[in-house]
Amino acid sequence: MTYSYCPECGTELQTIIREGRERPACPAEDCEFVHFDNPTPVVAAIVERDDRVILIQNEGWPDDWYGLVSGFLESGETPEDGMLREIEEEIHLEAELQSLVGVYAFEQMNQLLVVYHARVDAEPTVGDELADLIEVPIDEVEPWAYGTGPALAEWLAERR
Ligand SMILES: [Zn+2]
Repeated sequence: MTYSYCPECGTELQTIIREGRERPACPAEDCEFVHFDNPTPVVAAIVERDDRVILIQNEGWPDDWYGLVSGFLESGETPEDGMLREIEEEIHLEAELQSLVGVYAFEQMNQLLVVYHARVDAEPTVGDELADLIEVPIDEVEPWAYGTGPALAEWLAERR
């Protein structure tokens, strides 16, 4: 998200140096808006069922792209609650969170990824915002290089 005008008062923003970085800021005398552009938290889960990992494909992704169940937190939600809600929305299952795999920077998307290991014990079905889902045996999962891939790679390395 970038701004040209102050979202508080409508004045055209100028670049200032603040805490060692160039940032768009409002020059109006009685306005203190600075666009810090902090990363957005995203929750993601390695969802396991019977020694397989459930990978999803969002609407609009290329046919050979699959990723972890993931989504943005809603305001007022804990990361755990947000994660369980996303799993329910995307694959229609009540999951049990097993552990926090880790917290990762996804710099290209300006996101902070909070990645969990979760378990389900029933058949997943494709949620409204998804194009497809697959279940891949843990031994055959090939993690990708970006985004949630490094979290999956670390989790697999510990598992195998
Ligand atoms: Zn302003």
